[in-house]
Amino acid sequence: MDTIDSQLARHLSLACRILADAGHDNFTMGHVTVRKPGADCMHMNAHDLGLGEIEPANVLLVDFNGKVLAGAGRKHSEYPIHAEIYKLYPHINCVVHTHPFYSIIVGATDGHIKAISHEGSLFAEIPLFKKTSLLIRSPESGRSVADGLKGHRAMLMQNHGIVTVGESIEEATVYAVLLERAAKMQVSAAMAGAVEESSAHEAAGKQGQVFYPANIKGFWEFLARNLPPAI
Ligand SMILES: [Zn+2]
Repeated sequence: MDTIDSQLARHLSLACRILADAGHDNFTMGHVTVRKPGADCMHMNAHDLGLGEIEPANVLLVDFNGKVLAGAGRKHSEYPIHAEIYKLYPHINCVVHTHPFYSIIVGATDGHIKAISHEGSLFAEIPLFKKTSLLIRSPESGRSVADGLKGHRAMLMQNHGIVTVGESIEEATVYAVLLERAAKMQVSAAMAGAVEESSAHEAAGKQGQVFYPANIKGFWEFLARNLPPAI
């Protein structure tokens, strides 16, 4: 059935508002999708609204060929990022693609996230997508993004934005928030002077000490509790 899952739509709209509050808003750009379980389609926030404006009524159901199956509004043209990731990685259920300010600066300068914070340690090994900085509008370019993500939770896209993925909406959303926070610290640190990174051993250790699944879920609940009321 081509129907929108109302619970996933509520969850997705909450993710969009959390991301907007965490610096991922970029006019009406940026999109979050969540796979419809057992189907070749995904829920996606509609075009023409900012992330902070998304309500459950602004969630579409879009198939992996870009056909809108349900919901009112236009889809985002970069749907192939999401579709190709879902096709390639069956365990991924949520994809975030945004254009966050500080992450774009890091992608255009250092090119990688440094392990100068707990958050930075989490993303110190993520890839930088350099094939194009144009919009990802074809299955071929979407597949390039998906291929580049292999084995990673996030990717910087040079002169464009970021992608984060997760098994759940909570996971992919929290990763996106943490990634932009790591990038903001890195850009700020560059103005303060030389930085010293944690060792690879310590960076890996923090993943188990700080970013274990129950804590990621707790971070999501914290973000949801502290979200300002919708305008
Ligand atoms: Zn984009």
